[in-house]
Amino acid sequence: MFTKRVIFPGSFDPLTNGHVDIVGRALSVFGEVVVAVLNNPSKTPLFSAEERVALIQEHFQEDSRVRIETFSGLLVDFVRENKSNIILRGLRAISDFDYEAQMALMNRTLDPSVETFFLTAREENSYVSSSLVKQVAPFGGDVSKLVPAVVGRALQEKFGRSR
Ligand code: ADP
Repeated sequence: MFTKRVIFPGSFDPLTNGHVDIVGRALSVFGEVVVAVLNNPSKTPLFSAEERVALIQEHFQEDSRVRIETFSGLLVDFVRENKSNIILRGLRAISDFDYEAQMALMNRTLDPSVETFFLTAREENSYVSSSLVKQVAPFGGDVSKLVPAVVGRALQEKFGRSR
């Protein structure tokens, strides 16, 4: 019924339940979500871009409406190359707003045909972030309520099972 393709860009280092929720809810409005994993060579991520893509792919493997790609460079170029004109972002708290509004305005300046859509986080995910997961997981903190099972296993492999 809905055919529009939307681009969901981010670091996804790693994928959290917050991201998963945004993708799921976007699919009730849009026909296809392209998860665009930012490959930023100037940053040292916990999971490489390839690992992040593999984890997201594994989580969404049953759903043909979700495609996973990496990108570097300008997001609006990636959006155009993927024959879309919609960027999807999530908003957790008012503290996200400032940065997100700047990004949306910059992207609109770069390409006025591209629109940014925002979905607010679910209450139970409003504190969930990849960076929080990365702060807790190395010390054996239980992040199983914050990330999909496949990511939980990858974190355990990275940091060991010892508690
Ligand atoms: P970035 O470095 O681009 O912010 P992230 O992977 O941290 O990449 O986030 C990607 C997108 O997902 C952002 O729009 C962010 O606001 C959104 N997001 C992250 N965590 C949540 C959450 N818990 N609930 C809703 N949206 C979220």
